[in-house]
Amino acid sequence: MEVKFKVEKVLVPIDFSDTSRKAFYVALKLGRQYDATVDVLHVMEPIASFDSAEDMERQANELKRVEDGVHRRVTDLFKEGGLAEVDRRKVRVEIRAGKPWLEILRFAWQNETDLIVMGSHGYTGVKHMLIGSQTDKVVRRAHCMVLTIKPDDFEVESDISGVPKKKE
Ligand code: ATP
Ligand code: MN
Repeated sequence: MEVKFKVEKVLVPIDFSDTSRKAFYVALKLGRQYDATVDVLHVMEPIASFDSAEDMERQANELKRVEDGVHRRVTDLFKEGGLAEVDRRKVRVEIRAGKPWLEILRFAWQNETDLIVMGSHGYTGVKHMLIGSQTDKVVRRAHCMVLTIKPDDFEVESDISGVPKKKE
């Protein structure tokens, strides 16, 4: 069996939930360790169908607004994490519209991503659910490795003898 292990391109999809922010920091640390590029991808749900010129203008304005917001929030994450500007050289920020899981997979395929780092949960974050729906779909369908990052207050669901339910 031939095992290929290459981490030159890391993708971190982010919805700005706490868990996805954790994933962002892990992705950056991995990126630094492997000297890889890190793509930060935010997927916005498209607002409405745009038929009229007015709708199209609204959509364009909305996209611009979201883009500005995403860039600002990523900059904030760099500051909060005490990350130097040098770390930013290999980081790209991308915004796409559509279904998150589909756009994540499409992006990974198009950009030949080696590793996707994402939260096990996101904004909805129903803790009793084992895994968020976007992550579930990505893990099932991705051509590359996927690393999931747990929320801080993660609890082990089942009783595994010798394993405490809560992390110390
Ligand atoms: P739900 O299935 O109800 O949405 P959830 O919000 O807890 O539950 P997911 O949406 O699967 O779970 O979120 C898990 C991870 O997927 C997030 O931590 C983030 O990495 C990624 N993700 C989710 N939504 C987006 C998005 N709109 N853009 C980019 N990444 C996203
Ligand atoms: Mn979600």
